[in-house]
Amino acid sequence: MELEVKCRICKHLETKDKLSQACKCDYSRALVHKICLKEKIESDGSIICEYCKQEFKGIEVKKRKKSIFSWIYEEPVAKGLVIGGFVLFSSLFYLIFIGFLNFGTSANLISLPWRLLMLSFATFYGIVVVIILVAYLTQIWFMYLNWRETHCEIKV
Ligand SMILES: [Zn+2]
Ligand SMILES: [Zn+2]
Repeated sequence: MELEVKCRICKHLETKDKLSQACKCDYSRALVHKICLKEKIESDGSIICEYCKQEFKGIEVKKRKKSIFSWIYEEPVAKGLVIGGFVLFSSLFYLIFIGFLNFGTSANLISLPWRLLMLSFATFYGIVVVIILVAYLTQIWFMYLNWRETHCEIKV
């Protein structure tokens, strides 16, 4: 038996019948052991050939979408947005809370019209912060959806 071809992944010389064509690359480059290809796909998390940009064929792949927690865990940007957002919005809400505490009770000496004015300011400010929070969360959600398209958990 002649050992004439190489597995692209493990580089071992092999007889042709032991290897299969994985993608649209040149014949010599496309030949792989199925088991090598499986390991490569699982470790890369990608089913696209880095040379010909085609999906590997002849192999059954299960893709599972990753959760938003994997996004936060794996992406530093996501972590920053979540932690930064939490700090920012909790301080903004804390200010509103302090505002209501101060002007919503009769504990201080500000006269009633002023108190009502300050309360409506606090309410307005609260509504604005809630709107910004919703926009912020929506933005984060869309970033996650976008990321999820290109980051799957791949099982072969
Ligand atoms: Zn191999
Ligand atoms: Zn290829």
